Amino acid sequence: MKIVVIGTGYVGLVTGTCFAEVGIDVICVDIDIKKIENLNKGIVPIFEPGLESLVAKNISKGRLQFSNSLAQSIKGADVAFIAVGTPPGEDGSADLKYVIGVAQEIGQNMNSYGVIVTKSTVPVGTAQKVEETIKHELEKRQLGISFDVASNPEFLKEGAAIDDFLKPDRIVVGVSSEKAEEVMRKLYKPFLLNGHPIIFMDVPSAEMTKYAANSMLATKISFMNDIANLCEIVGADVNMVRKGIGSDARIGNKFIYPGIGYGGSCFPKDVKALIKTAAVNGYQMQILEAVEAVNERQKSVLFEKLMNRFQGNLAGKTFAIWGLSFKPNTDDMREAPSLVIIDKILKAGGKVKAFDPIAMPETKHIVGNIIEYSETEYQALEDSDALLIVTEWTDFRSPDFEKMKVLLNNPIIFDGRNIYDQAEVNHFGIEYYGIGVLN
Ligand code: NAD
Repeated sequence: MKIVVIGTGYVGLVTGTCFAEVGIDVICVDIDIKKIENLNKGIVPIFEPGLESLVAKNISKGRLQFSNSLAQSIKGADVAFIAVGTPPGEDGSADLKYVIGVAQEIGQNMNSYGVIVTKSTVPVGTAQKVEETIKHELEKRQLGISFDVASNPEFLKEGAAIDDFLKPDRIVVGVSSEKAEEVMRKLYKPFLLNGHPIIFMDVPSAEMTKYAANSMLATKISFMNDIANLCEIVGADVNMVRKGIGSDARIGNKFIYPGIGYGGSCFPKDVKALIKTAAVNGYQMQILEAVEAVNERQKSVLFEKLMNRFQGNLAGKTFAIWGLSFKPNTDDMREAPSLVIIDKILKAGGKVKAFDPIAMPETKHIVGNIIEYSETEYQALEDSDALLIVTEWTDFRSPDFEKMKVLLNNPIIFDGRNIYDQAEVNHFGIEYYGIGVLN
């Protein structure tokens, strides 16, 4: 089987590499010339644990290739995955120009039957648009090549993407023909040997499944953040409440950690896109509107605590930030809450000294030198007036509190991820402010 993966970002590169890993011939295509040049040398543009070695291994085995030419790569492909970006348009809807552009190019160049699969997160009806686009291009070429379009949304988590792909909780595939189902079942067979389920359904349901999944996860986060804020007001401890509710199997203990709001490349845009899909269809997603509003507010919570503690005056003060990426184990800074916090501190006249184990180059790429970057987490504390924990990297879980107290001008921690125990931190003579806990 020969497959082509179009778009070599987080999803496309992981998808292509993992298919190559199980022995399939894969060509990953991207329009970014530099990216492909680097990948051909084994240089991976993103930080994703385990990815670089897997890319190198599969290049050397000759199963994984990279190309800028979709026109050449699509020839003779059994399956083509579209994994390009679907960023939010100005009105919040998913911008499909990259997906449709790729469909056009496929139609202009395919030369035999293939299954064209949308792996990008796309609204209901997109696979149909892809089909119409390809058909239109084939008609122009007066070719009677048959093809199927399938939807195969991706559920990988950045930071654990390889494991998620190789050992998926489930694989969802929307198909409209038996032939496409057969091809997709064969393709995914190596990933199903350990009992991981593949769920076939109609195409619109598969497209909707992805949005429903991300929206449900975002809802859990916003719900818990709302509860945390109320806990603070009424004198409860959300860490206790979380344990109390998480032990109920109907609720579950995952994704109920309060914090400083969700970020990343998926939840914010997918929640917005689903709200928009509903709106254009004359329906209002009331829960998701609230989820989004709570999330926006939550991004300011840590900053507000900072302002309260410093009586609204941050001018001339320096604040250490530990963690910049939107979550641990990734260098992805898209919609990272750290960017909002940095912006607010700078606007209030403060300075920021940041440390992140991986995401500093990417942060520098985005915000430049408006903040200071430290070589170690402890260096960030030197002459800083307080520490803000923004991303819960494991490196920060068990720090040397004695040393922290000595290095900080004022021994104060604002823990945006509730990774420390308040009593323990206080024991070292450090003031502690968490999310949804009594101070
Ligand atoms: P990304 O921005 O990291 O990568 C997209 C890539 O597509 C870029 O390298 C870009 O150069 C390339 N591209 C754009 N137009 C192209 C074209 N015409 N031909 C070839 N390449 C082209 O995006 P991503 O994070 O990998 O996300 C891709 C899709 O997968 C999105 O729809 C996203 O919502 C979805 N998704 C992302 C994640 C995630 O964790 N990042 C998880 C599940 C689903």
